[in-house]
Amino acid sequence: MEIEFWGARGTAPVSSPETVRYGGATSCASMRKTEDEILIIDAGTGIRALGLSLIRDRKGPIRVHLLLTHFHLDHIMGFPFFSPLLVRDVELFIYAPVPVVETKYYLGGLMSGRYFPIPLTKMPAAKVFKQIHGDPLPVAGFQVSACPLRHPQGSVAYRIEDGLWKVVFATDTEHPEYGIDRQLRDFCREADFLVYDATYAPEEYAIGKKGWGHSHWRAGVALAHEAGAKRLVLSHHNPDHSDARIDALLVAAKDSFPMVDAARAGWKRTI
Ligand SMILES: [Zn+2]
Ligand SMILES: [Zn+2]
Repeated sequence: MEIEFWGARGTAPVSSPETVRYGGATSCASMRKTEDEILIIDAGTGIRALGLSLIRDRKGPIRVHLLLTHFHLDHIMGFPFFSPLLVRDVELFIYAPVPVVETKYYLGGLMSGRYFPIPLTKMPAAKVFKQIHGDPLPVAGFQVSACPLRHPQGSVAYRIEDGLWKVVFATDTEHPEYGIDRQLRDFCREADFLVYDATYAPEEYAIGKKGWGHSHWRAGVALAHEAGAKRLVLSHHNPDHSDARIDALLVAAKDSFPMVDAARAGWKRTI
């Protein structure tokens, strides 16, 4: 199973010499089992580079499965610039945890009026919208399940399994005031690869950021320990955190959970 990160920044894209290693593009990752099908998690600005690579490398028609966790801009703002939308022999399946009419409204709205020159309905790619519920759904050779997260306006974690490996993406969330999110812990049980929200340093979170729907490495380590996750991947990096700051947070996390990494744009990992 191959996982590739195209954007690991949260909140807003950034660009500066201090953020080049982890990258400035917002949330987007991909997984694939076959040449002609790909699974994508979120459409932050990282999806633009992914789209270009899909068009460049394709050998025929492709099926693209896009899982949206929620509609905050950092998770959808790359969508209008996803170039497979312009290609006729692309089939694009869009999954979100809300009714199809809402997904069409939010994504269509992003490309309507004076925001964008081509409306979503006029894009040549075939588009199929689906609402995703809690039950496992076969997608691109994987089984996909969703779990609600604690985030303003709601978000979901996705668990992606292939019978051998279990990967969970859980950004844009925080634990309840006391203890950990038990529903999420059960959802992450024995995950081989747990991607978790590390927007804040623990001390930043403690001072005025509780209830904002984001988290920090210490909460990720607690979740990984309790769920028996094998590897923890910190992501959704703060736009105000430099590469050096993320390095320091990673070193601190490694002290409590050695199998921890920090996601970065361009990072490809086979598990
Ligand atoms: Zn976000
Ligand atoms: Zn969000």
